[in-house]
This record gives sequence, structure tokens and C-alpha cells, in this order.
Amino acid sequence: MTIGILGGGQLGYMLALAGYPLGLHFRFLDPSPEAPVGRIANRVTSDFQDQQALEKFSHGLEVVTYEFENVPVAAAKFLAERVPVYPPPIALEEAQDRLREKRLFRKLEIPTTEFAEVAKRKDLDAAIEQVGLPAMLKTCRMGYDGKGQWLLRTTEDVENARPELPEGPLILEKLVPFTRELSILGVRGRDGKTAFYPLIENHHRGGILRISLAPAPNLAAGLQLEAEHAARRVLEALEYVGVLCIELFETGGLLLANEMAPRVHNSGHWTIEGAVTSQFENHLRAILGLPLGSTAAAGVSAMLNLIGEIPESAEVLNVSNAHLHLYGKEPRPGRKLGHVTVRADQFEKLLERLSALPEFFRRPEYCLEKALPELLAKRA
Ligand code: AMP
Repeated sequence: MTIGILGGGQLGYMLALAGYPLGLHFRFLDPSPEAPVGRIANRVTSDFQDQQALEKFSHGLEVVTYEFENVPVAAAKFLAERVPVYPPPIALEEAQDRLREKRLFRKLEIPTTEFAEVAKRKDLDAAIEQVGLPAMLKTCRMGYDGKGQWLLRTTEDVENARPELPEGPLILEKLVPFTRELSILGVRGRDGKTAFYPLIENHHRGGILRISLAPAPNLAAGLQLEAEHAARRVLEALEYVGVLCIELFETGGLLLANEMAPRVHNSGHWTIEGAVTSQFENHLRAILGLPLGSTAAAGVSAMLNLIGEIPESAEVLNVSNAHLHLYGKEPRPGRKLGHVTVRADQFEKLLERLSALPEFFRRPEYCLEKALPELLAKRA
């Protein structure tokens, strides 16, 4: 049984690694001949626009999925006429446009920050009038890892940003004074059954995820259910199949939805060792119509992204219950090259193990001390 995957980055790589024990085969389509999956799977190097290549790619596939949300919707739809495509292309369409996404949340009565459309650059002042400052201005499409975003605290920031703004469309969002960022991963099977992982706490720096803690520590009662209700509404409204991630802000005891990713997600990498069934295996189970696996956490986990540089493997592996994942990518600044998950049965033990990590992780960009001030206290 062969699964087709659009995109050949680390998410696809980990999907394949989760699928091999289930006897699955994979065929990837990616425009780059350097895509990491080339190390472990059959890869077609082609543009997503090339219909002839898509046609050939689809032959003999059981199902097609994607690991990258900027796959052109037209490619997903073209393939969907030939072979089942999950999640459904409508999910891609909704998630690729920040305005559509926020309007969908609103329609489903999922709370979001206040926002306004900035169809053309010239509409910015009207949007500021409506939303107020401070605010975040974002391009509606193709933004990721903090790119295409302007933080506007003052009218001076607005004037400074103006010359560098694209023509549009943009979205202006009221800045959320969040206490922390969380994400929820949900999965829906072909039979409509759903399951949800515990909420995850995420810390970003320079717009890139640095560390995730799961289950999110010190969670107020009710928030897990609230997040699950929100995710379930999206899963059902889109007749979704597969894993979906919704990124949330926690503010004043409430959750506001920021954005969604119609795919497995970086904040769910800890599930490989830290949950009964990983997000990657559950995504495959869902799209194949197999029973979903338990999403329960096995103890507590911290996942640290390796950005731009890789530490000595031996130094990481020397730490009890530390798991190193390297994606086989050429190091480049800002590039996600791998991750480390540290797991323990309880939080105290997790802190102990994290404090045994090499010097490399003490740098501020790893956010270890920001995410876990208890760790700093422990070291002092
Ligand atoms: P995004 O691309 O929407 O995930 O934004 C990247 C990061 O910018 C988020 O993880 C937040 O840290 C921050 N951010 C985005 N939108 C807002 C907002 N409306 N209020 C406060 N912070 C935001």
C-alpha cells in the first residue's frame, strides 16, 4: 500500500518513519531535489503545478496527504479527482488565508482576537481605526515562522512599516497580551471519530518554535475541554480527516484561536516518545480509515528544536530519556535541522534531565529558562 505525500520536509520524513512499521510505502512529491525524505523514501522532484507529473505521481496510490500547508490548492484538487486526498483540499484553502481562517473560527463561535481586513495597503488606517494599537499586521498568505508580520505598537511603527508593506491582502489583528501560547492537536478518522492530545505549551523566538512542553503545565480546569470543543468544531465543519493543529493564546483564563495547520505539527513532535500513539502514526491511521490510537501522554515531555546548528550527538544521548532526531538537512541559519525530546514520568524528573543537557542548550534562544524558570532555580 503506497501513500503519496505532497512536500518532502521533516514532517513527511517522520510520517514515513511512523508508517514503515505498519507495512506502508511512501512516494513524495517535492520541488527540491534536496528534500530530506530523499534519504529514506521514493521521491519525485517536480513542481506542484506540473499536471503531467501529478498525474504520474498519483498512479497506484492508496491515498494522498500533505505535510506542507502551502501546497497549491489546485494541485490537491487535481489529485482528489484521481485518488482520495486527506485532509480535504478545503482545509488547505481555509488555512492558507489568515482572513478566511479567522472568519471560519468566528463562524464556528471559536473566540479570536479582534481583527480587520486590509484588502489594500491604503486600507490600513481604517483598519487601525477599527482595531486600535498595539496590533499585528500580517500578510494573509504565505506567512510562516513570523515572516510577513509587522508589530505595530505606535503610530511611529505604522509609518516605519508603511514603505515595506506589500500591496495586500493583509490582516490587522489586535495584539493579544497572552500569558502563554498553547496548541491543540486533534485527529479525525474517516469514520468521523475524533481524539485529542493534551494541550501543549509553546515558546517562540524570532517567530520560530523553540520549545514545547506537554502536557502544558499548570493548566486551569476547563481549558483542555474548551480547546477540544474548538478543534472538534473545525474538524466537523470541514469533514476533516487526519491530524489538525490549532495554535492558541491563553489570556485572562480564556483561549483565543490564532491559526490552524491542516497537518501534523512541530508542536506535536514530542508525541513520538511522549504519547501512546504519535501524531504521525495517528495521521496515517486516520487517512487510511484505520482505528485511531490513544492520544494519552506517557508522562511529561519537553521538545527542543535544533535551529541552524546541531549539538554533539553523544552529549545529548548521554542524558537519560533524551531522544535525538536529525532530519539530514544541510545546516543553515534559521533552518529546522532536528529536535530533541526529553521525557520523564513526572515534572521534577524532567527538570533534572533537562538540566543535564549540554551547554549548547543554555543559550537564550533555546528558551529553556524562559519556559521553565524552575530550571534556573535548580541550577542556581
Ligand atoms: P503566527 O504566524 O500567526 O503564528 O504568529 C507568529 C507569532 O507571533 C505567534 O506565535 C505569536 O508569538 C505572535 N503573534 C501573532 N499574532 C499575534 C497577536 N495577535 N497578538 C500577539 N502575538 C501575536
